[in-house]
Amino acid sequence: MLAKLRLKAHTPARVLAGHPWAFMGEILTGVNLPPDGSCVELTDLRGHSAGSGLWNSKSQISWRRYSRRAELLDGPVLENLLRASVLRRGEKRVGRLVWSEADSLPGLIVDRYGDYLSVQALTLGMDQRLPQVLQALQAILNPREMVLRNDASSRKLEGLDQYIKTVSGNPLQPFWLEVGKVQMYIDLLSGQKTGLYLDQIEQHQNVARYAAGRTVLDAFCNQGGFGLACAQAGAKSVLGLDSSTEAIDAARRGALHNGLSARFEVANVFDWFTENREQSFDLIILDPPPFARKKEDVKAALRGYKELNLRAMKLLNKGGILATYSCSHRISDGMVLSVLESAASDAHRDAFILERTFQPADHPVLVNFPESLYLKGFILEMR
Ligand code: SAH
Repeated sequence: MLAKLRLKAHTPARVLAGHPWAFMGEILTGVNLPPDGSCVELTDLRGHSAGSGLWNSKSQISWRRYSRRAELLDGPVLENLLRASVLRRGEKRVGRLVWSEADSLPGLIVDRYGDYLSVQALTLGMDQRLPQVLQALQAILNPREMVLRNDASSRKLEGLDQYIKTVSGNPLQPFWLEVGKVQMYIDLLSGQKTGLYLDQIEQHQNVARYAAGRTVLDAFCNQGGFGLACAQAGAKSVLGLDSSTEAIDAARRGALHNGLSARFEVANVFDWFTENREQSFDLIILDPPPFARKKEDVKAALRGYKELNLRAMKLLNKGGILATYSCSHRISDGMVLSVLESAASDAHRDAFILERTFQPADHPVLVNFPESLYLKGFILEMR
């Protein structure tokens, strides 16, 4: 049964304007709360509906919309949402198939790695519906195996445990998969994130267009997606840096497997820039982790971005290319632009924007959900 809850009077009704979340403090909570994980229609005091969402009183974000209609997230509704989400992606063999609220499936993330799927349930409501989700995915895509990557720490906020396992219960060996023009090492049971940073694979190819004949620094390289694509595209040399030993091992393995010449080193990029002021490069990629997860982190994050971009600009030869990204939704592209302005000013260099880039279409942005817009990039030419 679809339960009903009401929004408090005078709360800023973001959710009525199209945002998919309602916070606990925005909802009138009497004695008879629906069970956590159930489907709830949310209305304002006059009865205007914000649609139906998954409810969890234990989470700060207590209601997350899956439909603008009054309907349960069960059976055909769930399967139709999954089908629509998968169809939206077309025939792509590697990429994100389902992205949570941006696909009206709050808390569900499904990534495709060829014949394998990696599945995460990050909300209680979605976790309770996992059996139906897995059954529907099996029917729609017939994957060889599905991995439940339920190790995200955000599960704790929903009162859920953390684990990783295959759906079949069988072990799954790492495998090689063609991503862009190179073979990448995919370890679904223990890699960072759900395997690769799928949101950057289009950029790997995009940036590689500039790589021929250039000396390349791939900073925050993870498994070397940018560096390997650049080496494949004919870079003169490639150096990749990441603080994760596991990621660097995978990157080295990737270079070897693809017969590409690229060097990968475990390093803290900030320290490396301090210790290597005399080097120079023709192409530098900066793809750091999100420095600002919380609002309070924004100032320090901007200082971090400025430091990195300044150092990179100083190491770039005349005519060199800087591909710089930020994946924090709290940092707008306007903020990144002012960081670049100030870095170029301190570096006494002219920086020209060649491209402004954006997260790929398989990570769709919902206009009324600013949190869904997180990845932006600038490709600059330094003179
Ligand atoms: N460029 C990668 C994705 C990078 S994600 C790709 O396209 O696939 C950010 C990476 O930064 C992670 O691999 C993480 O291990 C690494 N990292 C985080 N802090 C770091 C630091 N201070 N120095 C070096 N690497 C760092």
